[in-house]
Amino acid sequence: MKIGTPKEVKNHEYRVGMTPAAVHELTGHGHEVFVETGAGEAIGFTDCDYAAAGAQLLDSAQAVFDAASLIVKVKELQATERAWLTPDHTLFTYLHLAPDQAQTDDLVNSGATCIAYETVTDSHGRLPLLAPMSEVAGRMAVQAGAWCLEKSMGGRGVLLGGVPGVPGGRVTVIGGGVVGENAIAMAVGLGARVTVLDRSVDALRRLDHRYGNRITTLFSTAHGLDQAVTEADLVVGAVLIPGAATPKLVTRDMVRRMPAGSVIVDVAIDQGGCVETSRPTTHADPTFLAEGVVHYCVANMPGAVARTSTLALSNVTLPYIIRLADRGPVEALREDPHLRNGLNVYQGKVTYREVAEARGYHY
Ligand code: NAD
Repeated sequence: MKIGTPKEVKNHEYRVGMTPAAVHELTGHGHEVFVETGAGEAIGFTDCDYAAAGAQLLDSAQAVFDAASLIVKVKELQATERAWLTPDHTLFTYLHLAPDQAQTDDLVNSGATCIAYETVTDSHGRLPLLAPMSEVAGRMAVQAGAWCLEKSMGGRGVLLGGVPGVPGGRVTVIGGGVVGENAIAMAVGLGARVTVLDRSVDALRRLDHRYGNRITTLFSTAHGLDQAVTEADLVVGAVLIPGAATPKLVTRDMVRRMPAGSVIVDVAIDQGGCVETSRPTTHADPTFLAEGVVHYCVANMPGAVARTSTLALSNVTLPYIIRLADRGPVEALREDPHLRNGLNVYQGKVTYREVAEARGYHY
């Protein structure tokens, strides 16, 4: 099969759909791979690396779309890219169609087969192509929080790990899912005193088995949350209620009662955030002060570590790309119901219920 990866065009997007290692695997399976020149340059994957892996370099994104029938990317297609899609294309990337009428209409009109990373499932009902970005964001949350606690950032001047004779900082993690678990791993590794709250006793049980008395697990009630938040040096917001806006569990009043210069990293901000005082920020200007507390609310945290994020994403997408290419998209989709859950648009129809309902298409 002919597989193509153009350079990402979204503002400040440095990730790339396929690494040279992924290209090497695919050419080893007898496929032809086309990569736009400079596609991985910003994160250290050079054109020479891609050529050595067996890719053919093409000097425009349009040339990649013309040459390949399976297009592998990271972000949703921008309007210019959508104009190049034909019924012969299969698109494999993050799509996030539900809030995006223009993109949904263009993909439907293209006649292409469009598979969204974010709705592919696994046998446990989880979302395996979203999880690596939550792992990255969870680990980054503690790194960002530690930095924000420094005086120069407006923080209260606390070292999370403490030193001999001085206790470490207190970290409260709200939500013990993928983001929370990864934040806890970093915070415990640094030597901080960690409390995690969740509504899922199973999640708390799993964390208790892993960390024993090195962390405190708490069932999430308004009372318990109030105490854990107002005593914390660093609060990490890692709540998710699938398909819904995040509840504002941390109120402005709680934020006001946190120690001056303490820090909130609201990772859940991409779903609205779980803190009343949160608002989305960018990597260019990541923090703001509200009620004396430093807030870090970047909606696309993995973008800052684009090289790690690309490698993590490629690890989970590669087996699907190989299957789509080896079996052909139609057969691969027919054989795997979990991959089929990723199918959002097929031959001019919306094939994912929530997207059809949100964008006014017949399902
Ligand atoms: P997840 O489903 O693995 O975990 C969410 C956890 O929240 C679950 O364990 C759930 O039981 C818990 N929860 C639900 N209601 C709760 C409550 N009232 N109190 C305490 N816990 C509660 O989700 P995840 O992958 O860890 O993602 C968490 C959030 O981070 C999501 O909003 C996701 O979109 C976001 N995220 C943001 C970025 C970013 O760059 N900002 C990157 C990745 C993920």
